[in-house]
Amino acid sequence: MLKKSKKPSVAIFGLTSCEGCQFSILDLHEKFLGLTKYIDLDEFRLIEDEKERSHYDIAFVEGNPVTTENLHILKRIRRISDIVVVLGNCADLGGVWEIKNYHDYKKIGCYVYGGQCKTIENRKIIEVPKAIKADYVIPGCPINAQNFLDLVYNLLNKKPWALKDNPVCWECQINKNPCLLQQGKICLGPIAKAGCNAVCLNSHQECWACRGIISQSAQKTKNLIKILKSHGWSKADVLEKMEFFGARDRIEAALKEAEEANKKVKK
Ligand code: SF4
Ligand code: SF4
Ligand code: SF4
Repeated sequence: MLKKSKKPSVAIFGLTSCEGCQFSILDLHEKFLGLTKYIDLDEFRLIEDEKERSHYDIAFVEGNPVTTENLHILKRIRRISDIVVVLGNCADLGGVWEIKNYHDYKKIGCYVYGGQCKTIENRKIIEVPKAIKADYVIPGCPINAQNFLDLVYNLLNKKPWALKDNPVCWECQINKNPCLLQQGKICLGPIAKAGCNAVCLNSHQECWACRGIISQSAQKTKNLIKILKSHGWSKADVLEKMEFFGARDRIEAALKEAEEANKKVKK
């Protein structure tokens, strides 16, 4: 919750990213301009480079702390901000950056950069909520900018804010899309967190869970893999899709949970 009643100081930072989530905010057009009447926008590089401040009421962090410098910046943001909001998949789940964690990233680094690889920083990817304490997460690649607006207005009005915990299938079927999973395609919709209006499915693209996975998804994940195997996919095929938006570690943790629960039932 915001501490003071004056206009809060808001900052939007980008670490290593494509800046797509920040552009989603700009794409709000007049809705974003309307919001700026109620806040002091003290940092948003896409509009103007501002002087560094010593305190922010709310800081949004997009992108991943891929470099040591990024990590120092992130930790400083945490130290000087009352509320830190994680913005988008790269920050929340590690995004495409995290693919390297699932492979021999040092070897890949040397394959790409050859003899120079030892001089190029190639750190293991860390998700922002694991590097610092995060107060809120706005998921997605890119974010649903309406989530950003709703969160800021709720903070201004001292109201709680949370996203629904429904799977993407829920929105996909409201939109009357044909089911790609039933057609044998790798769609993670049954375990992926909704809130994007099933945008990929509306364009006949599979969902790869850019918004993360729903809670209590252990058994659902197990069932999904069983269905995909019945369509001829191997576990490795499925895991590869799960890597794309950095959700693989969460999904593997859910699978482990399901296995442990089954062992307890059998005892
Ligand atoms: S989450 Fe997606 S849109 Fe946002 S910064 Fe990362 S890659 Fe870009
Ligand atoms: S296409 Fe995917 S998101 Fe849609 S209902 Fe089927 S499994 Fe769910
Ligand atoms: S459908 Fe899935 S991959 Fe596409 S935006 Fe929604 S959560 Fe992300």
